[in-house]
Amino acid sequence: MKNLAVFIDIKNGQLADSSKRLLDFAGDWAGTNGAEAIYVYGFDHISSDQLNSHSFIKQYIHIKIPGLVNHGQIMSPLLDDVKQKGISQILYVKSLLTDTIASFLAKSLSVPVVSNVLKLQKVSDGYQFTKSIFSGKALLTTQVNGDSFIAAFSKAFSVDVPQGTGSSSISQAEVSLGTDSQNKLIENYPLTGSIPLPDAAIVVGAGRGFKDPSNWGIVEDLAKELGAATACSKPVSDLNWRPHHEHVGQTGVKIAPKLYLACGISGAIQHLAGVNGSRKIVVINNDPEAPFFKHADYGIVGDVFDVLPRLLNKLKSH
Ligand SMILES: Cc1cc2nc3c(=O)[nH]c(=O)nc-3n(C[C@H](O)[C@H](O)[C@H](O)COP(=O)(O)OP(=O)(O)OC[C@H]3O[C@@H](n4cnc5c(N)ncnc54)[C@H](O)[C@@H]3O)c2cc1C
Repeated sequence: MKNLAVFIDIKNGQLADSSKRLLDFAGDWAGTNGAEAIYVYGFDHISSDQLNSHSFIKQYIHIKIPGLVNHGQIMSPLLDDVKQKGISQILYVKSLLTDTIASFLAKSLSVPVVSNVLKLQKVSDGYQFTKSIFSGKALLTTQVNGDSFIAAFSKAFSVDVPQGTGSSSISQAEVSLGTDSQNKLIENYPLTGSIPLPDAAIVVGAGRGFKDPSNWGIVEDLAKELGAATACSKPVSDLNWRPHHEHVGQTGVKIAPKLYLACGISGAIQHLAGVNGSRKIVVINNDPEAPFFKHADYGIVGDVFDVLPRLLNKLKSH
């Protein structure tokens, strides 16, 4: 193995929690697998001191994207940069943009891509990946022989490695992707002013138990107090009670927060498929037989219109 690349996610100048964990993993991985250097790529400015540095991190490369990232002519400057740096392994946490870039790099470099990775380890004749399949219902171990691969980590992956110390000096560079006369990016804006759901450390989810869209005030107030994002079940967004980008589950957004607070949601298998990467799940439901309780770390049997205001008051008084 020669060099390692890590693609990171930056939101409002801050490193996403999943990218922090990936950098810690990469630092440890480089140390134990003989990498010479780690090159970190991202799509925004970031200060070097945020890259919870390991001594292997040599450079941060800001990828500047002028338009839609959709074909080789545009991405060839990035491909040249990756080749020139002698990168043979690429790690990233799944997102639409990184998936697009990774599929292009995989084709151009003729290396395999393994997606939904939860665990990666070196074995005598290659690398073994544990990945989540069937919406998190089963695990699959697959092996890549040879030294080169691209690993797309699931947001739910966890690491048990030493954290970086922030002590190494990291240079900064830029790669500008090419331009495209046929496509141009007109506007790029966040869906809401609030915390983006896929990256939120805390998520408050609400379901049909809230009965009417006018009852969502308490959900929003609680989310604000906790610094959380709001989510909902599919029927809630189908009924247009909440926007579709809040719908989590098998057919919606997949989340892996530190804490998922599920309120008035039954816990159907399709909903669980999108939230079972959460590290702690707290369920509030007035039906003690609600299936969600079987998947909860903590459960409160109670009426959301009684429990949530009390919880909010308690939080505000601290
Ligand atoms: C192909 C397919 C894909 C699907 N994909 C998804 C998906 O991605 N995401 C998703 O969420 N669903 C999905 N569904 C739908 C899923 O099967 C469930 O129907 C849905 O998750 C139920 O939503 P809910 O829990 O909000 O509503 P309900 O099933 O109506 O449950 C409401 C819950 O609220 C509780 N409750 C009621 N009043 C109160 C109160 N006052 N206080 C406390 N608790 C209360 C009830 O006890 C109940 O458990 C999919 C279904 C199919 C067939």
